[in-house]
Amino acid sequence: MPLLTEASKERWEKWREENSEGTKAEINVENHDTIGMLALDANGNLSGACTTSGVGYKIHGRVGDSPIIGAGLYVDNDVGAATATGWGEAVIRICGSHLVVEYMRQGHSPTEACRLAVERLIEKNPDWKDIQIGFLALNKKGEYGAYCIQPGFQYAAHDPDNGPRLIDGKSKR
Ligand code: ASP
Repeated sequence: MPLLTEASKERWEKWREENSEGTKAEINVENHDTIGMLALDANGNLSGACTTSGVGYKIHGRVGDSPIIGAGLYVDNDVGAATATGWGEAVIRICGSHLVVEYMRQGHSPTEACRLAVERLIEKNPDWKDIQIGFLALNKKGEYGAYCIQPGFQYAAHDPDNGPRLIDGKSKR
């Protein structure tokens, strides 16, 4: 069943008129949709999942970070779990979610591990001011945190002490 609506077809046609093939789609709140979920169960086991349709107007055949374990998602049941959202090419370049878990293995808190991964990403991506990336992390103790490049990244959390809530992720800018 075709899922293309008339409105999104019109937006795509306008985008094609204004952009050449291969133009990088802008990543902002309207143009990315990765859902990454991390969990720690009552037995202390970690798990994670993510899903995305990728960035809007992507080039044919593009593979983002979400389907690549270690980039968009990584879980090590001994240490912690991490997931990413935003400009996938930049996340793939640093194996972002794996890197976040490795920082937690070194003893960093989830938020600090995400921040360090964002700093690494900034080092490797000179265009970092034009892109958005957010990392989310959860460790074996049930502590969690997030960090992103641009402000405006919120994540949802639920734990026995605080119940469900929306939290503003810290950001570089
Ligand atoms: N990370 C996704 C990708 O690059 C985009 C998103 O955040 O939805 O494909």
